[in-house]
Amino acid sequence: MIDEHITASHLYRLLPSMDEVLRRPEFVRLIDLHSRAAVFQAARVELVRARAEVARGVHTAETLQIFLDGMVELVARAVEHAARATIVSVLNATGVILHTNLGRAPLSEAAIQAVVEVGSGYSNLEFNLESGEREHRDQHVCQTILRVFSSMTGKPTDALSLQWSSALVNNCAAATFLALNSLAEGGEVIVSRGELVEIGGGFRIPDILRKSGALLREVGTTNRTRLSDYAGAVNANTKLILRVHQSNFRMEGYTERPDFLALIDLARRANVPIFEDQGTGSLVSLEDAGVREESSLLDSFLKSPDLIACSGDKLLGGPQCGLLLGRPELLRKISSNPLSRAFRVDKLTYAAFAATLNSYASERDELIPTVRMLRLPEADVRIRCEALRPMIGMDALEVLVVPVKSVIGGGTAPGAAVNSFAISLRLKNRTATRLLAALRHQRPPVVGRVKDGCVLLDLRTVPPEYDGLLGEAICNAAKEECQ
Ligand SMILES: *Cc1c(COP(=O)(O)O)cnc(C)c1O
Repeated sequence: MIDEHITASHLYRLLPSMDEVLRRPEFVRLIDLHSRAAVFQAARVELVRARAEVARGVHTAETLQIFLDGMVELVARAVEHAARATIVSVLNATGVILHTNLGRAPLSEAAIQAVVEVGSGYSNLEFNLESGEREHRDQHVCQTILRVFSSMTGKPTDALSLQWSSALVNNCAAATFLALNSLAEGGEVIVSRGELVEIGGGFRIPDILRKSGALLREVGTTNRTRLSDYAGAVNANTKLILRVHQSNFRMEGYTERPDFLALIDLARRANVPIFEDQGTGSLVSLEDAGVREESSLLDSFLKSPDLIACSGDKLLGGPQCGLLLGRPELLRKISSNPLSRAFRVDKLTYAAFAATLNSYASERDELIPTVRMLRLPEADVRIRCEALRPMIGMDALEVLVVPVKSVIGGGTAPGAAVNSFAISLRLKNRTATRLLAALRHQRPPVVGRVKDGCVLLDLRTVPPEYDGLLGEAICNAAKEECQ
């Protein structure tokens, strides 16, 4: 007992003080590279750990010396780890194209290029280069979106600009809120009971309406609302008719919902503006991808309600933002609302959004990752899975290529699934959950899913140029688990 005590106090004396540690040349170099505070913090953690180990009787003089010799390495690794950004890019192998937890739509090359160019210097964000005078930042979205619709409908942009104006805000939830607050505060908004939906993340239409200061006037029933229900609800205090796209659920069976054009016609005759929360912002047909019945922004545009709102980072495939598109006098009311300042987006968003729209205007929508991933033929995904399979040969790892369904996600196209292929992994004597966790610890982290005791990695949502890296990550994760 006494011997042990003597050994312990002897070992404690071998431990350097913090000052001594930080004066060592290798630590001075580390401080130069990072900061004194960061190195101090990490070194202290190591010394405290060593003290605790000595107290537990883990160390001999020799093992303690080995620890001290290697301490700079441990501290360097800890400092580097702490300096790494918490938000990093990951490989999405879930097959969910618009994965809300993984950042929804990835940006196109053109959008990234625009962000780099506009973000690294000054820009004409609120400046007219012709007149040399101030101009509203929404000029950038108005012109570009009309070029898109002009190219899709053949109508000249000049004619369109008389009927349509637009604005960008933080997201579709902000767009909807701002529209309701600007156009219907203190008045009534007519909504079908079948459209009083929750979009996700706490965005509930009735709550947004209440917060906007508008009075909700519910019509119809959950499953059936008729045109006459709307007609009967219009009164002198009606400020708006709201139509919400049922984007994240599907009603089947005994259901009825008025045709949108008929509802628009009713609104015109009642002299009440009609506002559609379209949501997805889809500009291309998804029929090829096997997705039907999905409303599209183009469709809404052609039907011409007075105002439309949609997300920038759902099927449109741009940055996170909300687009408001509608009659110029309504947009004027919205932009003169003091709250619009609170919801405005910065130059990076305009740059990325306009670049994304340009790909549609120039009929190069295959350059938009979301669109490309949706259209990717399942045979192509299968070929990539098959090519990857021999790269991950390991005795303990069973690798198969299996057919799966990719989903669109992001609260769009419920029930729609796109045929795809995945690599299925099963590691001997290890659960799928453990392998899944090991994959998340790779660089870049790989996110997959578990089904029937196997890890499934759907390649539809992995950019093809990352297939090699994915193969390495799988090998490393499996090896780590086998150790
Ligand atoms: C997704 C969605 C929203 C919310 O969009 P965010 O951009 O996430 O704020 C609102 N309305 C509908 C119909 C939607 O589909």
